[in-house]
Amino acid sequence: MSETIAFLGNLDAEEEADFLAALAASLPEETIRPFRLLSAQEREAARIAIVANPDPAEVAQLPNLAWIHSLWAGVERLVRDLGASGVPIVRLIDPELARTMAEAVLAWTYYLQRDMPAYRRQQEAGTWRQLAYRPPGETTIGILGLGTLGSAAAERLVGAGFRVAAWSRSPKAAPPGVTGFSGPEGLAGLLASSDVAVCLLPLTEETRGLLDAGRLSTMKPGAALINFGRGPIVATDALLAALDGGRLSHAVLDVFEVEPLPAESPLWRHPEVTVLPHISGPTTPASSAAIVAGNLRAYRATGRIPQAVDVARGY
Ligand code: NAP
Repeated sequence: MSETIAFLGNLDAEEEADFLAALAASLPEETIRPFRLLSAQEREAARIAIVANPDPAEVAQLPNLAWIHSLWAGVERLVRDLGASGVPIVRLIDPELARTMAEAVLAWTYYLQRDMPAYRRQQEAGTWRQLAYRPPGETTIGILGLGTLGSAAAERLVGAGFRVAAWSRSPKAAPPGVTGFSGPEGLAGLLASSDVAVCLLPLTEETRGLLDAGRLSTMKPGAALINFGRGPIVATDALLAALDGGRLSHAVLDVFEVEPLPAESPLWRHPEVTVLPHISGPTTPASSAAIVAGNLRAYRATGRIPQAVDVARGY
């Protein structure tokens, strides 16, 4: 019988019950229990923690962890709060999440390519005016971040006939039909040529504030921005100025500096901003539990910890 696995997170009671039920169904041979229900001996003995935005003070009460499995794909909070502990952090890499995110990128790209923000405004004004159609083959989508999610989105966009470019930190082979960029000069090229820039970057020391006034001013005039990565990658004031000045035509934002987006944020009311409540790539209990189960069983069988986040790199 293996030791009890600790479950820690700031989920509401219903979400926690859903994740625990999915984990129990995927891992019937394991005992997985919320941190608050663990005895002192179980906390001492715990080797693995499954987490969803855990309280670092609670994680610190598990002194013998061998590794931590996050239920989320983005790990900036874990790296910040727990990176110094040296306990390996394994993040969620879920093909179902990548598929859902790619679908969202395609949906909101179509929203922009088919001029839906303009038609919404025209309807509000009672205006009947047909705008020129711009085919996907004449529309360049630039993806910032060519990892699990960026690659899936790029393939989906290529399949829909868009011209696709993508930017990564290190030079790498881009998926078929995708023009790859890397490094600082690569970002300049991508921003200058994209009709729609899609941010699928992780939040790290390097990417925080990356899309600031200077970089937004190098975007193709009239381009649009989709941010599905993390809020602090885009400087909100600079984005609002770029929209007000007409440099950018529209922004679709799913992630924000503070979530939920505060009621007083000007983003809520800006006519050229679409606000989404962090729904572009939801983690579902069933699909994430299946991924966690695969990683845990491999660990039990081999003793090898799954590939962990590079804390120094931040993702
Ligand atoms: P990933 O597989 O780790 O890929 C990250 C990509 O970003 C890689 O291509 C990496 O370059 C690139 N990158 C990182 N730092 C960079 C830098 N300084 N300059 C240029 N490129 C850089 O991550 P993922 O699974 O695709 O997820 C990406 C992010 O999406 C997550 O971190 C999370 O914040 C966000 N997310 C959002 C939602 C949502 O619902 N809105 C859902 C899930 C995830 P290399 O290829 O060179 O390493």
